[in-house]
Amino acid sequence: MKVMTMWRDALDGLVKSPATQRYPFVRAVAPDRLRGQLHWNPESCTGCGLCAKDCPAEAIEVIVLDKKAKRFVFRYHVDRCTFCAQCVASCRQGCLEMASDAWELAATDKDDFLVHYGAEEDVEAVLAGAPAADAPVAE
Ligand code: SF4
Ligand code: SF4
Repeated sequence: MKVMTMWRDALDGLVKSPATQRYPFVRAVAPDRLRGQLHWNPESCTGCGLCAKDCPAEAIEVIVLDKKAKRFVFRYHVDRCTFCAQCVASCRQGCLEMASDAWELAATDKDDFLVHYGAEEDVEAVLAGAPAADAPVAE
């Protein structure tokens, strides 16, 4: 009986199209509601930090360089993110979304998992070690 099943499966395999996908040569379209990489839209961000406070994985840092001038840098640790979307729900300004098409997040270098959003000069300042406005200044 088992031999018959095996032969039937083998013959089916010859005539049916493959069940597997030819990724990465053919890239499947992800469902609209898939939670991929988090994206930050600075337009309406107030720097309130609620997203970071509510993130259960400590995957977000909102670095305030100048609140009045709306100079914020949004640091996202992709490797800590659990894709729960709590931050998206917490942001009252609608600044956060999880891109459904950004789901290929594997990397061989750990540095690739640290993403900075913000104006180029602000990100550079933060990477150079600029203190956040609300951080204690070292004496
Ligand atoms: S999706 Fe969840 S884990 Fe990821 S940054 Fe947002 S709150 Fe944190
Ligand atoms: S919760 Fe929204 S408005 Fe507040 S810091 Fe985060 S992204 Fe900006």
